[in-house]
Amino acid sequence: MAKVAFIGLGNMGGGMAANLVAAGHVVQAFDLNADAVKDAVSHGAVGAERLQDAVSGAATVVSMLPAGQHVRGVYGGEDGVFTHTAPGSILIDCSTIDVESARAVSAEATLNGFPMVDAPVSGGVAAAQGGTLTFMVGGSEEAFGKAEPILSAMGKTVIHAGDPGAGQAAKICNNMLLAITMIGTCEAFAMAEKLGLNQQTFFDISSKASGQSWSMTSYCPVPGVGPESPADRNYEPGFAAAMMLKDLKLAKAAATDAGASTPMGALAEALYQAYSIQGNDGKDFSGIINTLTGK
Ligand code: NAD
Repeated sequence: MAKVAFIGLGNMGGGMAANLVAAGHVVQAFDLNADAVKDAVSHGAVGAERLQDAVSGAATVVSMLPAGQHVRGVYGGEDGVFTHTAPGSILIDCSTIDVESARAVSAEATLNGFPMVDAPVSGGVAAAQGGTLTFMVGGSEEAFGKAEPILSAMGKTVIHAGDPGAGQAAKICNNMLLAITMIGTCEAFAMAEKLGLNQQTFFDISSKASGQSWSMTSYCPVPGVGPESPADRNYEPGFAAAMMLKDLKLAKAAATDAGASTPMGALAEALYQAYSIQGNDGKDFSGIINTLTGK
């Protein structure tokens, strides 16, 4: 099995690295946070004290980092992946970052002789631990072919979205749509209540009618209605509102760059920004219903 360098062993990366170990890979794990490395070692990874130790002898590099600036630094920095990894190794960045950084790092990878994909994920910490993530992958056919077996060991669905940056594009378009449908669903339930409509009855009707969406039928924001969701656990995430706000900001930046008109996306971003200012970063994103109901 391949030697894999894994960089960024946080909430998501920790579980993903453990799944690569479970699939039989030798995982050389590096994080700036020594406790995260210790945790990965307790799940069978080999701990690395420096990035260059992690990539030494590895034909595959996987990263799961907070934002574009971290990805640019880890790959292109003075002591980064491009300097210390054997040329030809496949580079897989699973972080959710801006499309521009993804394209820039991928172009630099090509110049340095590396195939690279951006492969952001859908699914949270539980999916990362359970190996059930969905990967949206941007990169050449050749790079996708090399990355696919590694990604399959960490997820249940791996989709080639297109050229470099296409994975990030798919991710932010999807999450912008999710935010919009969630807020719309919250508004409809809040209004139904004001109009004296029983919420379960509204769910029974709308979930079978044209208003239905994943936000309603799989992740209903009303406690006790629909399948179990964060609403039934006092809006413990799930998918934290801070993460949704991050993705909406990335969507807004990409829309501006591309000249795309996204008025509903911009409104969703403003509403989640307000939700954040009210101290709800750690709440599930469906908790935004409480700003409408006043609960
Ligand atoms: P996290 O903050 O828990 O983990 C990031 C890790 O990267 C940290 O352990 C940090 O120490 C490490 N790191 C930062 N800079 C580094 C560097 N230069 N070298 C080595 N390690 C470094 O974040 P997370 O929740 O695991 O999210 C990671 C990515 O996944 C983000 O881009 C996020 O948007 C995306 N994502 C998260 C979720 C989720 O539910 N948490 C879901 C989908 C996508």
